[in-house]
Amino acid sequence: MRILIVEDESSISGFLKEGLEEEGFAVDLADNGRKGLELAMDFVNEYDIILLDWMLPGVSGIEICRSVRKVNQQVPIIFLTAKDTIDDTVFGLENGANDYLKKPFAFEELLARIRVLMRRTTGEQSVFKIRDIKMDLAVYEVTKGGKEIILTQKEFALLEFLLRNKGKVCRRTRIMEKVWDVHFDKDTGVIDVFINGLRKKLDDEDSESLIQTIRGVGYRINEDE
Ligand code: CA
Repeated sequence: MRILIVEDESSISGFLKEGLEEEGFAVDLADNGRKGLELAMDFVNEYDIILLDWMLPGVSGIEICRSVRKVNQQVPIIFLTAKDTIDDTVFGLENGANDYLKKPFAFEELLARIRVLMRRTTGEQSVFKIRDIKMDLAVYEVTKGGKEIILTQKEFALLEFLLRNKGKVCRRTRIMEKVWDVHFDKDTGVIDVFINGLRKKLDDEDSESLIQTIRGVGYRINEDE
């Protein structure tokens, strides 16, 4: 899952980026309105959620929100705002935001709102089961045969993406877009390294790999047999 954060206060954006990456999100950060607008418009269909500060140098959060809504109605937008009058909140929601949080807010609250919005817009499941493997996003846990498996952040995000698209082929370029952030170069070879890591942790020696390689295209997790 990939998130855009547009926030000019580095203490807030740094803390959000770190926290969200720990939760397995790929995070793009813009520290001014112009860069935020550029990223939002360039990658609008790749983002699963956009967090917008209200007051930004260059282009305001509300202007970014309006521009995004002209081309994409689905992506959830949350305003992070110090302006807390009812008028501003209503104005933000009328202009296409889905939710808002008043600063200062607790990280857990933001995370809860993100999960709710993603469930609402994408019908997000929070528990996936396949073979003897269970992935529970709410508690950030993967178990195999009831025993916890420790995954790295990227392994977790990659498994989550493949499971959300269970039964479908996930193209390598799409995996890069959704699991890695904008700063990562486009060498998709890195995906193989993480797929191998997942296979070592999740596969049984005597059965076919959970994750199928579709040669020249990408990867797929099949529906349970
Ligand atoms: Ca600001």
